[in-house]
Amino acid sequence: MGEMTKLTNFLDDKSLSEKELKEARREWFTNQAISDDEYLTGEFELKCKNCNGNRFWQHNSFIVPCICKCQATKLKEERELELKARRAEHFEKLKQASLLGERYKNANFDNLDMNRPQDFIEAVKRCKKFCENWEEVKRGGLGIYLYGDVGTGKSLLTACIGNSLLLKSVPVLFTNFFEIAKQIKKTFTDSSMTESDFVEKLGAIDLLIIDDIGTEIVVKNGEKTWLQDKIYDIINTRYINKKSTIFSSNESLVDLVEKCGLMKKTVDRIASMSTAKIKLQGTSYRLIEQQASDIPF
Ligand SMILES: [Zn+2]
Repeated sequence: MGEMTKLTNFLDDKSLSEKELKEARREWFTNQAISDDEYLTGEFELKCKNCNGNRFWQHNSFIVPCICKCQATKLKEERELELKARRAEHFEKLKQASLLGERYKNANFDNLDMNRPQDFIEAVKRCKKFCENWEEVKRGGLGIYLYGDVGTGKSLLTACIGNSLLLKSVPVLFTNFFEIAKQIKKTFTDSSMTESDFVEKLGAIDLLIIDDIGTEIVVKNGEKTWLQDKIYDIINTRYINKKSTIFSSNESLVDLVEKCGLMKKTVDRIASMSTAKIKLQGTSYRLIEQQASDIPF
């Protein structure tokens, strides 16, 4: 309204009589195109056929076109639709970048088959809370170590977390060290991204979900492979950046070292980044360890 007052003051302030005002409108609207959804009254007022609202604003001989209530509503709806479309497009882009793969592309807390053991149901609740309290989780750089035998639903759960957060436009990368190793090898020949760029990128993403840790080859003929150090680099970068990370594995943390041959310093990092360690065993729920009692999931 302030703008309007300023405009009124700026304009000629001489008050016109009703008759002169009408004459000004007649002159103005005679030269204007009138669209199908509006009409001119006997008083030469341009009105909307639908809501009878004025389609003009007048100050003395100064007349400007205006939109009526239904035009404003329509405009608002169009803008909302456009925003929704843009959000959907953004979500698709994030999803494609997240490497979620066909199998878990549509995994979602709402379409989960809950006809599963109690431990899975309880883990679902915690994972849902992890997403609901994402801002707090992110601020604290909190994470989960989810482990258990093949077929207990670990990857499914982490995919649900990934999709749920992607829907909130959180950048999530769902990957594993096989994929990471492949990408790093690509940087050896592809000059568009260096290895350290790639590690930095992995270290910066808001949520990194590393699936199936412990299955990659980190020891060969008794020697550690080049991947050992890369795994440490990536995990350590996220540790330093205090970034939320979710790990899923068939193995316990101890076995990551003893059975899988990961370096102890890597596993120590994983342990401290995983504020909750949850074991899925296909039976009753078992929270193995929780770093503090007040974590928000
Ligand atoms: Zn209208």
